[in-house]
Amino acid sequence: MLGILYSVKVYDFGCPSCGFESRNQIGSPDGDQILTDVNTEFAQYKLYACLKEKKFVGANVLDATFDGKCPSDGSALQEVTTEEARCPRCNTKLKVEESKPLSTSDSAAE
Ligand SMILES: [Zn+2]
Ligand SMILES: [Zn+2]
Repeated sequence: MLGILYSVKVYDFGCPSCGFESRNQIGSPDGDQILTDVNTEFAQYKLYACLKEKKFVGANVLDATFDGKCPSDGSALQEVTTEEARCPRCNTKLKVEESKPLSTSDSAAE
């Protein structure tokens, strides 16, 4: 039996046309998340495209502060799925690769 199973997956998106690249996490962790004193017991990460900035914006849709708009410019976000991911710059269908999970506690790059 496996221990903690996280269903949050990290995907690498790449545009074969213009070179756009993005790495984002999608999904929701299972109930084994360690409960902290902040109310982050539920998280569901979705991927959105900000057409204003022409980039991907990851969001926790269960975060009360998330209202479907880009946090930096307030424009309406478009949901992106891994099956139908298109480049926010040139609308080419993106290559999608599942990546290794990001470490949440260590942000130091190797
Ligand atoms: Zn592109
Ligand atoms: Zn934006």
